[in-house]
Amino acid sequence: MFRRTQKNPKKSPPKKGGKKAAPRKKSSKLGMVIKTEFSPHLAWMYVYLRKAKQKMPNLILPNRIRSFRPTKGKIMRVLGNAYFSNRTVVIATHTQLTYMNRKGDLKVKKIVRLPKARILDTLAHEIAHFQYEDHGYEHEEFTRSIFKTFGLKEKCPYCKGTGKIELEGKP
Ligand SMILES: [Zn+2]
Repeated sequence: MFRRTQKNPKKSPPKKGGKKAAPRKKSSKLGMVIKTEFSPHLAWMYVYLRKAKQKMPNLILPNRIRSFRPTKGKIMRVLGNAYFSNRTVVIATHTQLTYMNRKGDLKVKKIVRLPKARILDTLAHEIAHFQYEDHGYEHEEFTRSIFKTFGLKEKCPYCKGTGKIELEGKP
């Protein structure tokens, strides 16, 4: 399901304590290849994540980015999640328009696509967690720095370019 960006997908990564990993090939920044696997729905993110890595060489990239589409049946709590054990990031491509029914329960009216800027904002927020696990000033600033590398002309309609988002991933 995932689009591999590696040239040789069957090659397994070097084992710890085994053979020494081959020295990383020096490549020009333009020819830089990132190894993150993208869900097909988020394959368009590749160029943005690469831009971020080019501008911030120490950025810890996720191994995998998975997409998430909420359903009508369950209220979505967060737009993204970061898992540290396998360095996977899950990012919502859609959100829910909700309403309160007469009983006072929150219900989903409609599933709508999120703007790319909003999805990239979630990406920046989640990968910032690999450097700063907890929310706080540093995480916020780091999110903003990552978001800036994307070079979006339009500001995110939700965060107004601050990188701050209301719904946030856990942790
Ligand atoms: Zn978070």
